[in-house]
Amino acid sequence: MDLGIAGRRAIVCAASKGLGYAVAEHLAAAGVHLTINARNEATLQDAADRLAICYGVDINFVAADITTREGRRAVMEVEPAPDILINNAGGPPPGNWADWDEGDWLAAINANMLTPIMMMKSLLPGMIGRKWGRVVNITSAAVKSPIPDLGLSNAARCGLTGFVAGTARQVARHGVIINNLLPGPHETDRLRGRMKREATQRDITVAQAAEAVAKSIPAGHVGRPSDFGATAAFLCSEHAGFMVAQNVLLDGGAFNSTM
Ligand code: NAP
Repeated sequence: MDLGIAGRRAIVCAASKGLGYAVAEHLAAAGVHLTINARNEATLQDAADRLAICYGVDINFVAADITTREGRRAVMEVEPAPDILINNAGGPPPGNWADWDEGDWLAAINANMLTPIMMMKSLLPGMIGRKWGRVVNITSAAVKSPIPDLGLSNAARCGLTGFVAGTARQVARHGVIINNLLPGPHETDRLRGRMKREATQRDITVAQAAEAVAKSIPAGHVGRPSDFGATAAFLCSEHAGFMVAQNVLLDGGAFNSTM
């Protein structure tokens, strides 16, 4: 399917690997020029080189912490007028509600709620002025079905979801479409880290921990980043113009509900 976005420009935050990279790759395949970001410059440059060689689109890269004001400014200096914004950042650490102090809460809220909100606040006016825009926020299946030891993530991402629910409906009439994409377990470094922790806690092998997760998912396997990237690219496409403020769950059917 032609996504109808060749020649458009996108910022993809937190995109040197994992889900962010997969989204960047599918946008590049659709002919979108990219500014990608992550903190580690060497890994980011590798990712940018791969994308430029494979897809022949313009690729800028900005090594910066997107959860800081300076990092966001650096990214938007390089690409001040994107048509497409993918909000993403690392997730908060696991733990227990009784141990998290105010600093832990502020860090989680900053990374997973305020950062995407500040990116939207800066970039939505330009999209509205140009009468076209797409924003996809990478959140988590935990927004619908909380993961107990990820309470910081459950809460911060629900805050972002509330903001999007109202704001998306205010900007849609200007051709600016905002949606959230909610990953369940996907095969990335973050999930591999979680599997290692679980294996240690339950005194099983990493392979056994991974098998248990896969078995708990109706699709029978964890998510493939490439499928995630393709879905995100569709949400950024010309065809998604009537799809407003949705929370699209990609979890292989793990969340059990009729609707
Ligand atoms: P990942 O494989 O660990 O990749 C994270 C990417 O984000 C890397 O490119 C990393 O590069 C970059 N990054 C992290 N913190 C950043 C920051 N402060 N500023 C700029 N770049 C940053 O993680 P992932 O699995 O793709 O997860 C992406 C998001 O989806 C996370 O918020 C995660 O919690 C959420 N999620 C993932 C899953 C899953 O199963 N994979 C499920 C639910 C939710 P640098 O380290 O170099 O900055």
